[in-house]
Amino acid sequence: MMDYIRKLDFESEFFDLYKLSDSAYGAIEKENSGMGSNAGFIDIGDYLIIIDTTLNSKAAEDLKRASYEYTQKEPNFIVITHYHLDHVIGNSIFDKSIQIITSDRTLANIKTESKKMFDKLKDFDPEKITELEESLKTEKEEEKILDIQNDLRFLKGIQSVKFLREPNITFKEGCIIHGIDKTVQLRTFSKAHTDGDVIVYIPDDKVLFAGDLLFSNSDPWLGSGDPEGWLLVNDELMTLDFRVTVPGHGNLATKREFSLQNKYIREIINLVKTHIKSGGDPNQIKRNDFSKELQSWKSITFGWNINFLTKLLTKS
Ligand SMILES: [Zn+2]
Repeated sequence: MMDYIRKLDFESEFFDLYKLSDSAYGAIEKENSGMGSNAGFIDIGDYLIIIDTTLNSKAAEDLKRASYEYTQKEPNFIVITHYHLDHVIGNSIFDKSIQIITSDRTLANIKTESKKMFDKLKDFDPEKITELEESLKTEKEEEKILDIQNDLRFLKGIQSVKFLREPNITFKEGCIIHGIDKTVQLRTFSKAHTDGDVIVYIPDDKVLFAGDLLFSNSDPWLGSGDPEGWLLVNDELMTLDFRVTVPGHGNLATKREFSLQNKYIREIINLVKTHIKSGGDPNQIKRNDFSKELQSWKSITFGWNINFLTKLLTKS
């Protein structure tokens, strides 16, 4: 752990809370807590900004409680990093007077993609949760276990809210929030993890909230975006001056994790291409085919990424 970062004593079943600078706090999801993603908050002096509201309203309540405990402020703004449900479900627990900011593209995607997914999942039979929990007791295959855990996280998260609240302030390229103590920059990218990813950057503090532009030491989910474009965005992010980043998933990170992620994206694209070219089955690709430092990663999205890339690269 970087020595200027302090782990705080905040009690939550969902996350560990870290103080990253005099203004920024990172909430790092505890494994299998149901929170679904990381989050954070920034005290800019006169205003309090929350970043992402996670997959579960109870985790969002804890985030609100933490932000009050450490800043004595009620939130004024929420910034949403992208449209995936594991970053927006908690929106609805916040008072309507709190402005929710994101990029134009992310709002458009929330109105279509997230809404569709939300409505579909909202209709599920509550029995399904019991069924999945039962199957988890007997399932032995690691990939299937990850799959069931993921389904459970989403169903419970959706169950924890009544509606999906949409952001109400958007920007096209970027936006700056000026506080008396700190200035916070928001910027968006169109071709990366999703169309419309938003970063939250505090130049004075050298802190970057990367949303899902970074999965720290685990397979980034490539299938909602543009893997080649993502490489360029990561290169650009690495030119920013920051010493710590809160990734969308995984532990606090530095530029090293961005370059590892780029390495993974390049390698998985090349592996799938090679298999397609030689007429082989890309599903035969194994962790051991990657560079050593990527072999220990564990995530459900490994198989998903291979299927996504196979379709994408067979077309072109
Ligand atoms: Zn995402």
